[in-house]
This record gives sequence, structure tokens and C-alpha cells, in this order.
Amino acid sequence: MLRLKNIELVKEKIQGSAPQKIVITTHHKPDGDALGSSLGLYHYLIQYGHQVQVISPTDYPYNLAWMPANDTVWEFEKTENKSREAIANADLIFCLDFNRLNRINQMEPLVKESKALKILVDHHLEPENFEDITFADTSAVATAELIYTFITHIGDEQKINIESAKCLYTGILTDSGSFRFNSTTPTVHIIASKLIALGVKPLDIFELIYDDNTENRMRFIGYCMNKKMVMLPEYNAAYISVTRDELKEYKITTGDTEGLVNYPLSIKGIKLVALIIDRTERVKLSLRSKGDIAVNELCSQYFNGGGHKNASGGHSNGTLDETVQTFLQMLAENKNKLN
Ligand code: 5GP
Ligand code: MN
Repeated sequence: MLRLKNIELVKEKIQGSAPQKIVITTHHKPDGDALGSSLGLYHYLIQYGHQVQVISPTDYPYNLAWMPANDTVWEFEKTENKSREAIANADLIFCLDFNRLNRINQMEPLVKESKALKILVDHHLEPENFEDITFADTSAVATAELIYTFITHIGDEQKINIESAKCLYTGILTDSGSFRFNSTTPTVHIIASKLIALGVKPLDIFELIYDDNTENRMRFIGYCMNKKMVMLPEYNAAYISVTRDELKEYKITTGDTEGLVNYPLSIKGIKLVALIIDRTERVKLSLRSKGDIAVNELCSQYFNGGGHKNASGGHSNGTLDETVQTFLQMLAENKNKLN
């Protein structure tokens, strides 16, 4: 169900004659939906003559760099001074594809303190409610779907151009698992059909996103599946843990581990999978499940995280081994849910 708050306020600002200073931000290590919805919104807003800046808290996967206006995006970690200034001086800050400010790392206090109107467009569960204006729906397949709905809602559907359409299609494609999850509703296909009518070529986008692997990524996936996957049949679960040395050996960069967690989930009988990676600053954990197992609840209880029912993430400040132990303990404590 769509959750709306104060939409009239933002409609006036966008469609009024005064140019606004607008920052669009999204969660750290943005994925196809995070960056796709940000740039999809960007290509709409600039048509009004607003000054629009997309700021990502961190870098992001190389297979997203083709997106129209990708070269205008600032990575906060590399543009700290001008990003601080833009956030402090913004009239509007769009927060896309996250609902808790700790998802934007060092940008959290800056966004919190900025006097800008904050607009949340998001589809995650358990919102923190930090924003002034809300356009959220946890049943939406992607934030990109909500950006399309938002622009339509305020009467500007005709302003969605081909640049915007390519970005929004990317968000829907990636967050729907290529249109396979149950959240792929009839509405999602209607929106996709409108984007295709605007000139989006489905195969082109699919190839840009999914057929852009590097050799080392494919060898790393092979290594993980062959040598690192641990099967836990008593829990219908499996996990892969990755050390810092392994990341170095395979020259893993942002995006190289994307999707790896889904491979064990395709094994018959497996209903829950964890990918646990030692990212030096912290140990990052991704959980995926099938059916009724709500991994967002497990992530929030055990790993300071959250997300969606069947796809969530979190982290731990312990060592890799300690995190694996916590994961195993989590399985033991929740055995009844896993059978
Ligand atoms: P991934 O495992 O691909 O990083 O994330 C899967 C899902 O979980 C995404 O929807 C993402 O937004 C959410 N997620 C990942 N890490 C965290 C986290 O640390 N905290 C919260 N609240 N959500 C997360
Ligand atoms: Mn999303």
C-alpha cells in the first residue's frame, strides 16, 4: 500500500517557477535500483531547470557506469567538501531506496542537519521516519517503480524521457530478479511496457547489466562454489564466507560479488543462504531466502541490518570467524522456521 505524506509540498517546489537546489542520494554501494532510480529522477527534475546533484555515499559496481548522466554523479568519499556544501545548501533532498539514515554512512549527520525538505521514496520495511515528505510502498518491486509512479502521481508522466526510462527500467529489471519475483505485479509490467514504448530495448539493458562480467569475477564465483560453499542440510541452508586474502587474490572490486549469494539458493531444497565477506572496515553479510523465512527480521536481530523479506543484509564488527559463528547460532536458534 502506498504511504503518502505531504506530497503537495514537493509538487509545488518541483513545478513552481523558482529553481531549486536539489540533492538526490541513495544507500551506500548503490545497486541497479538505487542508481537507476536516482538518475531516473535526475533526468526528470533537470527539465524544470533545477540544479540537481546525485551524490552516492560510496563507489558502485562498474556495470552501472553506462547509465545516462553517470558522469555527473558525485561519490561522497571522493568529493567530500563540495558534497558537504551541496547537502547543507540544498532546498530539497531526495532519499531513494533506503529508509534508515545509517545506510548513507558519513552523509547521515549532514542530511540530518540540513535544513532542506527531505523526501523519501522507498520500498523497504521498518522505516525510521526521518523525512518530511513520504512516497513509500513496501509492496513495490523497486524504488524505480515508485519514481515512475511518483512522477505520474504529480501529473508529469509525459516528462519521462528516454534517458530517464533507461535508468528506471534498470532499477525494475535488477530489483525484480529480471521480472521473476512475486512482487512483479501487473502494474510493474504496465510500467515496463511504457518504458519500452519510450524506446528502451530490453536486451540492450539486460546485456549492459548482466553480460558485463570480468574474467576474474567468473573465476571467483567458480572458486566460491567449488571450494567455499558450506552446505547445512539440517537447516536447508548454505553459506559462503570470503576472507580479505581471497578478495585480494581474485582482485575483487565493487560489484564483483553481486549475485553470488543467489547461486547456492538455486540448489534443490536450499531455502536460506548467507554470503559473509570480510570487507576490512566491517564484516558484511547478505542473506537470501525462499518462501516464508523472513531474513529481514533475522538480519535486524543478529546483524544490525534489515531489507526485504527474502533479501536482506547486515554487518558485524567482529571477525569473519565470529560472524560465521553468529550465523550458525542464528540457524540453531531459528531451526523451527527453517524446516
Ligand atoms: P545486499 O545483501 O544485496 O547488500 O542487500 C540486500 C537487501 O538488504 C537490500 O534491499 C538492502 O537494501 C538491504 N540491506 C543490505 N544491507 C543492509 C544493512 O546493513 N541494513 C539494512 N537496514 N538493510 C540492508
Ligand atoms: Mn530497491
